[in-house]
Amino acid sequence: MGFVIEWHPSPNFSSREGRTPIAIVDHITAGAFPGCQDWLCDPAAQASAGYIVTKIGRIIQLVKDGAKAWHAGVVNKPSWVLYDGSNPNLYTIGIEHEGQPGDTLTPIQYQATLWLHQQLIKQWGIPVDTDHIIGHYRIDSVDRANCPGSGFPWTQLFKDLKGGSVVATPVVTAPVVDPDLYVMVKVRTSKLPALQAACASMEVACNVIQLP
Ligand SMILES: [Zn+2]
Repeated sequence: MGFVIEWHPSPNFSSREGRTPIAIVDHITAGAFPGCQDWLCDPAAQASAGYIVTKIGRIIQLVKDGAKAWHAGVVNKPSWVLYDGSNPNLYTIGIEHEGQPGDTLTPIQYQATLWLHQQLIKQWGIPVDTDHIIGHYRIDSVDRANCPGSGFPWTQLFKDLKGGSVVATPVVTAPVVDPDLYVMVKVRTSKLPALQAACASMEVACNVIQLP
């Protein structure tokens, strides 16, 4: 059980040149969805990210993990011990969060990014520590000092990644045809397959989170 990753490819990527991801870099978009998605898919931006996590808990993938997204290529007074002098995009995965610097994440946005972090940690064998899960400001402390900003839930994220949060009542959100419209319903686990089938028959996205 988990969230759905939607694929919305960006042309803004290049090769990892044989490197693999060793760390996750968290960002804030400083702009609303879907404008931020449009920008990160615009060749003129020369920027992208692996993923965007929206305020309603949608997870949009823009660049495959095996390719180099352009999210943290400028290094300026870094405080990241794993920076090795080469472009950090070569060996990191960037997650953008819809919001403004200083915003806290919405509850479902937090659950979605927690789930996404868990998937990437498992997939790439990324250690759960402050050297391997970092904010953009650790790479550029000058022009990106507020990315992802003071509202980002670092303490809760590390607590949950180290084995806190799990299960009780699943909550389903269904972004309908218009992505700005969604409903959130609580269902018992036993009813979930029926709800998912109903969503599928209506071609409605069905994101599932489990409340602690
Ligand atoms: Zn950033």
